[in-house]
Amino acid sequence: MKETACQECGIIIEIGSFSPSQQYACPRCKSVFYRPGESLDLVLVMAVTSFLFFIPAIFLPILSLEILDKTQSVTLMEAVLFFFYDGYAIIAIIAAASGVLIPLVLLGLICMMVLAIKMGHTATKVRGLIRLYEHLTHWAMGEVYLISIFVAMVKLNGMAVLVINFGLFSFFFFLISFYISITWFNTQDLWNQHELEN
Ligand SMILES: [Zn+2]
Repeated sequence: MKETACQECGIIIEIGSFSPSQQYACPRCKSVFYRPGESLDLVLVMAVTSFLFFIPAIFLPILSLEILDKTQSVTLMEAVLFFFYDGYAIIAIIAAASGVLIPLVLLGLICMMVLAIKMGHTATKVRGLIRLYEHLTHWAMGEVYLISIFVAMVKLNGMAVLVINFGLFSFFFFLISFYISITWFNTQDLWNQHELEN
């Protein structure tokens, strides 16, 4: 018999035989307190993949502009600055934070937590990281960044010939693998990892 407390209403729930592949909900408030995630190995592979896509996304140009026979390439960071100097400082900061900074921090946290558990530490050791992760997931909005790039493209379309470059595809794949990572990753699995072994 295993006991756990519902995080929503605090009731103590007793589970006869825990199966990690099953979903569990609180009998009183009906909030789901365990949802099976993918294996931690898979989560780690996906998080690392996401990091790998980020490298070309940040260094390679995302767009090329042709204005009067002159070609200019724009990288992800230059696109942020474009908004910044264009008077959209708030948009630039929100887009960069939600689309780049927070996803990177979340991926870093996933790697740190999974590796700590794999090295035999308990979830209690990384409790602070788990809490930080759960807070930050609400602020990751990569689509905000993509939308602002498209807005910039529409604005520039009349003045220049736009060519989408490899960096934009890399950024797109970075965001996709990032979203897969956070969907697959279940912080609850960190707590269960050791209880399953014992
Ligand atoms: Zn409850």
